[in-house]
Amino acid sequence: MAGGGHNGLTAAAYLAKAGLDVEVLEGKEELGGGVVTHEATLPGFRHDLHAIAHIFIHGNPMISDDELGLLSRHGLRYVHPDPSMSVVFPDGDFIAFHRDVHKTAETIAAISRPDAENYLRFHEFASPLLDMLLPAFFAPPAPMGALLSQLDSTETGQEMIRVLMMSYLDVCREWFEHPKVIAALTRWVSELLIAPEEGGTGAFLLMMVPFIHRYGMGYVETGSGALTDALVASITEHGGRIRTGAVVRRFLFDGDRVSGVELTTGEELRAERAVVANLNIKQLPEMTGDRFGADWRRKVERIKPVGFGLLAGHLALSEAPVFTAGEHAGAAGFQEITAPLPDLLRAFDKLKYGEPIHSIPSIAVPSVWDPTRAPDGKHTLYLLSYAPTELAEGDWDSRKEEIFDRVFDTFCAQTTNMSADKVLARVVHSPLDSARFNAAWPGGDPGHFGCQLFQFLGYRPLPNMGYRLPAKGFYLVGPSTHPGQGVTGGARAGARVVLEDLGYDFAKVVGTP
Ligand SMILES: Cc1cc2nc3c(=O)[nH]c(=O)nc-3n(C[C@H](O)[C@H](O)[C@H](O)COP(=O)(O)OP(=O)(O)OC[C@H]3O[C@@H](n4cnc5c(N)ncnc54)[C@H](O)[C@@H]3O)c2cc1C
Repeated sequence: MAGGGHNGLTAAAYLAKAGLDVEVLEGKEELGGGVVTHEATLPGFRHDLHAIAHIFIHGNPMISDDELGLLSRHGLRYVHPDPSMSVVFPDGDFIAFHRDVHKTAETIAAISRPDAENYLRFHEFASPLLDMLLPAFFAPPAPMGALLSQLDSTETGQEMIRVLMMSYLDVCREWFEHPKVIAALTRWVSELLIAPEEGGTGAFLLMMVPFIHRYGMGYVETGSGALTDALVASITEHGGRIRTGAVVRRFLFDGDRVSGVELTTGEELRAERAVVANLNIKQLPEMTGDRFGADWRRKVERIKPVGFGLLAGHLALSEAPVFTAGEHAGAAGFQEITAPLPDLLRAFDKLKYGEPIHSIPSIAVPSVWDPTRAPDGKHTLYLLSYAPTELAEGDWDSRKEEIFDRVFDTFCAQTTNMSADKVLARVVHSPLDSARFNAAWPGGDPGHFGCQLFQFLGYRPLPNMGYRLPAKGFYLVGPSTHPGQGVTGGARAGARVVLEDLGYDFAKVVGTP
């Protein structure tokens, strides 16, 4: 396994559980990739450096059926704050996404009664579609043609195809009427890091609404890094081996088969049965010596990146923020600040032209619902803003603190008690810092590239490639492949393909935790 992010570890854990002799090679000294927790500011303040909210992983049988014993044997525990998330307007209006859909609708009714009804109708429409989509999310993707043709055979399926092709903004506009409700839902789905008008993104609203009411959002007790620790425990429990500081320089081949890897130290490691990469497909032309040809490289290079990146601030606070929007907002796992619809859409235009924005940050104070993350009475703040991957003026290293100051001002304006003197320490990471942190995130994109329909489901990363790279025994898992970005444990499906190619019965492998 080249790369020890949570997806590489997930796949390795399934392969080890099947009895294969597995070795994980992680380039950094630390495992987990984007799923790590550090005392980044001060001792005792535990910050999730990147991923904090674990969403779709809760629909993954790895967690829902505890297939690897992560929950029952390896100490993984999730906290589910309620509401999972609130979207808050500058004037204090908000929508709180509770586990209970009716409670959520009540908060929508305070803005628009008709849209509260529309939300319940949308939830009713989307829930059966989630039933259909969810198993497919954690299984190898069906060929796109077969999927579309199957959907096309029923009226509901045709509606689904329409939505898959639309932009999420258009789906919001089709179902809801009040500009604030449209803005709130649009703001939420923009977490995809794709601008609202972009086509081929409509399916996400359809999935996210029923999902949040069925599973909520999970946050790992003590921090995201505990998921990495649990996966490592599962691998070693089954005899798997893990090496850190082992940077894979290139892949080795023997005829039409992958045969191993070469590390940057020159050391060669042979793999008898399979080599799996938890890397970005864009790293591979170089790492395979362009073995798959100029046409393959061209197809990889043209994969469309996301629209923007993230400016992430980790802060140690001397006290808990008191939010003007009140308890519902303050107790939420995450708060997403939004702007009225025209301003919201203009913010995404700015990003497109390399201009920083500060008006729509995401805010989490994890120590409120998980006291292990800060010393008694103190708090950790995770403050994120969308940010252009490259600035039109200046560069990230010289401008990130100044740009983040304005994001911090927006945060303070949402509270009655926050100001710079409540900050004990802070660390700010720009998209450029993300690119430096992880060799699989060139351009600072932790999702590798956008998830528009033309590079999603069976077309991710390339049409109907699935997890198999074009050499025998060679596989790719992680955000470059289905189901894409985020903490999903999606590499379970990649592991299934590897095992089935090797003649294993996956159902038997996952049979007992
Ligand atoms: C600021 C920020 C906030 C985020 N917040 C969230 C969130 O709240 N929720 C969410 O779901 N997602 C979030 N994400 C995204 C999430 O972190 C990623 O989608 C996730 O980490 C991808 O997991 P992965 O295991 O596939 O890959 P990665 O985490 O990218 O791991 C890949 C691993 O491969 C290693 N590697 C790379 N090249 C080599 C090489 N040549 N040799 C050996 N090893 C190599 C890397 O060091 C890394 O450890 C966030 C990302 C960022 C940057």
